Amino acid sequence: VLSTDAYCHRHEITVTGDNVPPPFTSFEATGLPSEILREVHNAGFSSPTPIQAQSWPVALQSRDIVAIAKTGSGKTLGYLIPGFIHLKRCHNNSQSGPTVLVLSPTRELATQIQDEAVKFGKSSRISCVCLYGGAPKGPQLRDIDRGADIVVATPGRLNDILEMRRISLHQVSYLVLDEADRMLDMGFEPQIRKIVNEVPARRQTLMYTATWPKEVRKIAADLLINPVQVNIGNVD
Ligand code: ADP
Ligand code: MG
Repeated sequence: VLSTDAYCHRHEITVTGDNVPPPFTSFEATGLPSEILREVHNAGFSSPTPIQAQSWPVALQSRDIVAIAKTGSGKTLGYLIPGFIHLKRCHNNSQSGPTVLVLSPTRELATQIQDEAVKFGKSSRISCVCLYGGAPKGPQLRDIDRGADIVVATPGRLNDILEMRRISLHQVSYLVLDEADRMLDMGFEPQIRKIVNEVPARRQTLMYTATWPKEVRKIAADLLINPVQVNIGNVD
């Protein structure tokens, strides 16, 4: 087990795991496809955030990650961009179901993730559907039927749609649990477990959380395999 400590901007970073690859220091060093680099430059971003720099090389090795990091650290692109690369590697047919599944606690957060996926993925022709409660199911079911590479969903609504047998997760091989601590606080653990039971065991799993209490550790231990743990502690 190798552990590295580094200071990057004003954040203290600790990465723990087997043979952790060195962080990317610039967007160019990532070797990302040019259409994705173009979107990143269009957005005016000059360099990866610490969580992106540390987690991209790990995620691109198809390894599981658990990241403990506060809001605003750039986690969304931290998992979406390796997800885009994963999609390119898979060549799956989106008509057969999503390849990337992102679980998010709320409609607002799920919608923000979808916006980011559409903005940064459209030049790579990546399609994304968003499923959340408090809205009619009809339009969401029609979106699913049109096919999507990425599904971003709240656990309650996705579980409802699974029970209706209107979506198949058999093709999912990149699973993200965003704001895992918040999803557990909201009581979504049973739905999360039912959803994960429908996802093949042979997958890459990435979990993001702002806090690291024992409930979150437990679900991480159950769902992730030998993860690299990335801690971004703000030292301001
Ligand atoms: P988190 O999920 O960690 O709370 P977000 O992924 O929502 O954070 O990112 C916070 C903001 O930072 C967003 O507006 C996002 O577009 C922006 N952002 C992401 N990556 C970078 C980057 N490399 N450079 C500058 N801004 C970035
Ligand atoms: Mg976030």
